Amino acid sequence: MLSYRHAFHAGNHADVLKHGTLVLILESLLKKDKPFTAFDTHAGAGAYRLDDERLAQTGEAARGVQRLLAADSVPAELERYVNLCRTYAAHGMYPGSPEIMRSLMRRTDKLFLSELHTTEIEVLKGTVQCRPLAAETDTAADSDRFPIPTVRHTSGFALLNAAVPPLVKRGLILTDPSYETDGDYTDAAAALVQAHRKWNTGIMALWYPLLFHRRRELQQLKATITGGVRSAAAKLGESSVICAELCVAPEKEPEPGTPRLYGSGMLIINPPYQLEEQLNVVLPYLSNILSPEGNWRIGHLV
Ligand code: SAM
Repeated sequence: MLSYRHAFHAGNHADVLKHGTLVLILESLLKKDKPFTAFDTHAGAGAYRLDDERLAQTGEAARGVQRLLAADSVPAELERYVNLCRTYAAHGMYPGSPEIMRSLMRRTDKLFLSELHTTEIEVLKGTVQCRPLAAETDTAADSDRFPIPTVRHTSGFALLNAAVPPLVKRGLILTDPSYETDGDYTDAAAALVQAHRKWNTGIMALWYPLLFHRRRELQQLKATITGGVRSAAAKLGESSVICAELCVAPEKEPEPGTPRLYGSGMLIINPPYQLEEQLNVVLPYLSNILSPEGNWRIGHLV
């Protein structure tokens, strides 16, 4: 039974890292007129209310995206993400990954969303029936520019198994499990290795939590992906894999009553040209603005 609800965490430091990186990847795909395919395997509800009492209870958006919205300046690399958040915040909302994808993608692009939670999937279906709030700034001429998503009430891992490789071969997989079970670590690694074997040119971005008590599971996840991508190299050609990690607290056993999530990371297979350089600007900025104990690193796994 799934109990995780993203409404408690929307717009927190992990979302800022994940969604800031997602926008950079989408921008790189949008540079060409040629259409692309995007999969959001763990889509959540789509968009979240900033005044939701669950979010007020955790205070996570206040320590996350709200700090960016209040900043005097943001690096050019984060402008599009922050501007999108500003548009949503004007309506008391925060855009989740499906909404970010819909807002930036075009009618010719293909978007696949999957969500397993019985309540979240219904909210997601309702969200994507409305035009994205980003449409407010459009002229009538481009009011139909958004993609029409395919929404599935299924496991994201099953979606990848069934739909990869996509017909339109340029593109991206975003995998953002809730890591409620040990199985999420092994299933996410196995699903991405398999997806990479079938679609070795796809960009694959996996979000992961930094939790002191789960460090072994994370090490194993990275080792499985590294091994899978390396072993495919002889047949399919080289793919690089990078990890970008943003910490908001020291890496140690948390004090009782303090959050266990001390940071998070994005593992990216086939990162687009210049993404690493862009993250080298974005991460120090975020670590500085989000926490006095902030820290960051970018590593190469392959
Ligand atoms: N990606 C969303 C965003 O950034 O706005 C947040 C997603 S939240 C971290 C993870 C979601 O995955 C939850 O809504 C949960 O119900 C859903 N979930 C859990 N296991 C799943 C699975 N195997 N397949 C699809 N969704 C799943």
